[in-house]
Amino acid sequence: MLSPTSSRHAAEGLQSEFMVDRLEGFNSGRDRYYAFQLSKPVAVRIHDPAVGADRIFECTCAEFRNTLRPCAHVWWLFDGLHAVRSKDEQGAAAPRPTQIELTAQFSQLFPFIAERQATLPRELNRLGVDVPDPDDELPVPDILNDILASFYDDMIPSEANDDFVNQVSHVSPDDILVEGNLPATIYRLALRDDAFCRRLQQLVPREVRAKRYYETQYLRLQATLQRLNQYAETGPSVGRLPGIPSDLDVPDCARLLRSIVHQMCEDHDARSAVVPLDDAAASQLALILVRLIEEVVHYNKDIYQGAQWNRGQPANEHPRERNLFAYLIGDPPYAYSHDDPLYNARFPSWEIDHFVIDRLQGFPTDQWIHLFEKLTNIKDKIEEFDTREMPTSLQYAGRIDEMLRAYTATVHEPSSSTYQMPRPG
Ligand SMILES: [Zn+2]
Repeated sequence: MLSPTSSRHAAEGLQSEFMVDRLEGFNSGRDRYYAFQLSKPVAVRIHDPAVGADRIFECTCAEFRNTLRPCAHVWWLFDGLHAVRSKDEQGAAAPRPTQIELTAQFSQLFPFIAERQATLPRELNRLGVDVPDPDDELPVPDILNDILASFYDDMIPSEANDDFVNQVSHVSPDDILVEGNLPATIYRLALRDDAFCRRLQQLVPREVRAKRYYETQYLRLQATLQRLNQYAETGPSVGRLPGIPSDLDVPDCARLLRSIVHQMCEDHDARSAVVPLDDAAASQLALILVRLIEEVVHYNKDIYQGAQWNRGQPANEHPRERNLFAYLIGDPPYAYSHDDPLYNARFPSWEIDHFVIDRLQGFPTDQWIHLFEKLTNIKDKIEEFDTREMPTSLQYAGRIDEMLRAYTATVHEPSSSTYQMPRPG
């Protein structure tokens, strides 16, 4: 029997709708614990009984500290963990556990949390609430492509299709094994076996997949710039690789960079359509985009200067054809055509908008503000460029300035007149 106070706490905990803000592991060895920080100034800590921890759980709330008895937060968490585990086992929630059953589960609790750390907060918060699981909204083959592509440095989900799927719509047990092809086998097994598929999704949650996708695209952005450098230095390559544009001049390179940026932003929107991605994944995308501007600013130069080959420069060539910064930012070919409706109808906006900045401005402030100094630095550099050669560079710097100012206006800063200089001596 529970004491009246415990009963009240249990009832309170089981009914209330706490949320987990963050789940994080702390310390090591005997002191190791996981903390579930709730969306209140309260955290429930779970210790590992296997290493001889003095206690198995504790809560930081005053109630627990005074009584050392399970409070509403502890009850809520245990109930939630139990529901998540029984969902795994039978696909539906089991009846609520008694206190004895809960105690029997303690020894398995710690490894369970360790294993599921990435997805547990989301799973707990979704219990009993009708929040769509973003993964439920996507067709399973898309999720599997996303997962499998995340294991490769040079593959994005849309390209995984050919390698893994081969137009498989129905897999019979005999078709699961594809000899010599592990990804295709995993893919077919997951299509065939719901439990395996679910496990795979937990193992590679959407945030991890998004991060891997951004990393792959970042490598491609860098490879694109690298190819421009090679072309500028040594000219057209002799042995071309099929399917890879190895010879990129400035306009080709600019188009490819824009196209990858566009892909990334579209992908980000798609991933966030049902439930927004967490800030860490979005911040990583913002960082990659800003790094790209940073690199492009370094390309304010004639890339063919000092080339080892005779390019045979066309007579009336516009200087921007030799300068990537000019082509993308400082003097783009479409800069004066924006008011021309015919021109706008001919090009999608991502081919002619302000490179990256138009996209970045759509991000919530929290997702790019860690780049404040980077952006300031970029803006300063662009402002130093000669505006006769780069007529639209100031306009571009102005766009960055706009972002920074909009943020600054929302933040209260102590003015310098109220700051007391420390007295000497
Ligand atoms: Zn508590």
